Amino acid sequence: MVSSLAVEIDLECIRRNVERIARSTGVDVLAVVKADAYGLGAPRVAAAIADLVQGFCVFSLREAQAAQLWEVGTKRILALGPPGNAEAKEFVAAHVQPAVSSVDQATRLRSAVPILSVDTGMQRFGCPPEEVDAVLKAGSCTEAFTHATRIEQVRALVDLLGGRGLKLHAAGSALLDEPAARLDAVRPGIALYDSAVRISARLVEVRDTRGPAGYSGFRSPRHGVILAGYSHGLRQGPCLINGTRRTILELGMQSAFVEAGRGDAIGDEVVLLGNGLDAAEVAADWHAPPHEVLVNLTRTAERQYLE
Ligand SMILES: *Cc1c(COP(=O)(O)O)cnc(C)c1O
Repeated sequence: MVSSLAVEIDLECIRRNVERIARSTGVDVLAVVKADAYGLGAPRVAAAIADLVQGFCVFSLREAQAAQLWEVGTKRILALGPPGNAEAKEFVAAHVQPAVSSVDQATRLRSAVPILSVDTGMQRFGCPPEEVDAVLKAGSCTEAFTHATRIEQVRALVDLLGGRGLKLHAAGSALLDEPAARLDAVRPGIALYDSAVRISARLVEVRDTRGPAGYSGFRSPRHGVILAGYSHGLRQGPCLINGTRRTILELGMQSAFVEAGRGDAIGDEVVLLGNGLDAAEVAADWHAPPHEVLVNLTRTAERQYLE
């Protein structure tokens, strides 16, 4: 789709984020570049940070294949989602290690050096604690992880599998500041992309609002229009025009009304993310996680990389 949204991705900023995470945690960084690096482009992001990380995480084998992730980085690749029907030899050919959570999967994928996925509370894609021994054995696994959002889940993993010489990891971005969650590696996703993304559109109309306007009859002293709507992943929330915080007043399919000030004119930039307006702030207005903000707003945007 042709989009009037532009996304600028600051690869140098992503590198600095990785360096900071590596320094502060002191353990291996397995960079999460699933969902096309949260919409930022997995091949470019992976190439930019390959020398700083110990590996990459994707959701599925297909994602790693589509991004040619091995060719890009020659770093180990973990597929964290369920392995589906893919065969061991497909994982091996793509240099991807599958996550397994059942004896069946572990047996079938043993030659692909599978990693045990442990359920510590997420109750999705994880092996129940009582079956971990059987799965470890079936897959000859030397590594196990859990998808943890709370420190208790990390403790559950360590209680279950600590002291056995297995490589263990649990923390995504949410637990990076918890020393006890670091174990042998961290798997940050959203934290890699912090402050590295700028998304903008341009005002194509600006006018003083006369009476009730738009679909809903909104009222505002003055409003502008941008050519991005809910089909571009946009939602009601904050934006910046000429340095001033404004509100997206109402959305259409392919356009949106934005609050405008006296000095705002056609052609002026409307910043939807970046320049101090961060994903967490937009996410709060959306009642969604910041991950969703990134993935939504990059869905149709024209990418430009700054190096
Ligand atoms: C997506 C994901 C992560 C990264 O999550 P962030 O919140 O983006 O850091 C880590 N581990 C697993 C298993 C995931 O699915």
